Amino acid sequence: MSRLSDGLILVGHYLAARRRAALRDSTSLQKHQQRRWQKLRAHVLAKSPFYAALHPANHQDCPVMDKQSWMDAFDRINTVGLPLSEAFALAERAEATRDFSPMWHGVSIGLSTGTSGARGVFLASPAERLQWAGTLLAKMLPQGLLTQARIALLLRAGSNLYDTLSGGLRLKFQYFDLTRPFNDVLAELDRYRPTILVGPPSVLALAADATLAGRIQLKPSRVIAVAEVLDDIDAARIRQAFDVPIEQIYQATEGFLAHTCSHGTLHLNEDVLIVEKAWIDRETRRFVPVVTDLYRQTQPVIRYRLNDVLVERASPCPCGSCFTAIERIEGREDDMVWLRSRTGAEQVPVFADVLSRALLNAGAAVGDYRIEQRTPDVLHVGVSPAPTAEDAERIRMALGASIDRLGASVPTIIVDGTIECGDERKCRRVRRLCEIVHA
Ligand SMILES: [Zn+2]
Repeated sequence: MSRLSDGLILVGHYLAARRRAALRDSTSLQKHQQRRWQKLRAHVLAKSPFYAALHPANHQDCPVMDKQSWMDAFDRINTVGLPLSEAFALAERAEATRDFSPMWHGVSIGLSTGTSGARGVFLASPAERLQWAGTLLAKMLPQGLLTQARIALLLRAGSNLYDTLSGGLRLKFQYFDLTRPFNDVLAELDRYRPTILVGPPSVLALAADATLAGRIQLKPSRVIAVAEVLDDIDAARIRQAFDVPIEQIYQATEGFLAHTCSHGTLHLNEDVLIVEKAWIDRETRRFVPVVTDLYRQTQPVIRYRLNDVLVERASPCPCGSCFTAIERIEGREDDMVWLRSRTGAEQVPVFADVLSRALLNAGAAVGDYRIEQRTPDVLHVGVSPAPTAEDAERIRMALGASIDRLGASVPTIIVDGTIECGDERKCRRVRRLCEIVHA
């Protein structure tokens, strides 16, 4: 495809996504989803040996897949006949050489950077990349494609997905490779002077620190957090440095899942996805999304269970969108701490934000922290700056009280000044590092 025709197709997708954003009520949204599902079934799933054999009338006729089962069936799911072994070999070579153009007959191959369990391989055809870029731009730049902007993408792994976004227009995109020394990245960023800063919150927070310290001078008019959970500590630093509201794009290799509206609320992209809720706890509205992508063709994503815990908003968003409103993304499912109940009969889930809030509200001086469940009965809390004896006691009491309120037995809580972390930019603040056996 030529650049010009690519550009026209991209604009087409952009306009289509803008039209879909105008779906104002749940009836028309469901109609749209049904229309897309029928197209997908007839034109895509028929070409996938795995799904063709199932003859699904509805998406519910297909099995729920997690990353492991999805990868196990990779060879039969994809519609281009690419074997997993070959996809892995091409993607690994690209990671090693930082050349983000692994291709297989025009299909680009990405590796997911999961920290545990199975690694994922993701495929996208040129047509799908344009579709993705058009949708992303429509959500990010609702005021139009002629907006003038310098966008900095701070990302851990590059991808030729992002190259799709550049070219023509008055928009400039620059990709900053976070596997390079961070001071070099900062210097380059300083020269580029982005008007829109896009990156994982932990990295945005480091850029905010450098700005607050006067080492670089960034004045973005928009800041967009992607790929990680935005927690309160990072959000406060970013707001302080840039003085703008933080927008969020919830984007995984599995797809573009949600973004914030003008009211700052995250909405699921239900014009592109059917999202089923696997409830963890209905009372607190926590669920794991099971997504069916209505547009992917090379590697169908059908009832794919993500590894994230979302909290649905209790009340509708004032913006009036019929797309499900999310109060927050709580973290990965395997970040959840599990503790024995007081009766010892079962395991009680303790959500990351409960522990974080208890710690931050303990009245101790906390600049940064990590909470790790290292064994089933031990929580290790690392705090920076190193806590005084009184502060350590305050933190122990606050965490113990919040755990006790959940009906769980309080584990041994060790509080000290060590924050062990290989790479600051990859760390999650609450993690479970041990296997929990559920009764
Ligand atoms: Zn809204």
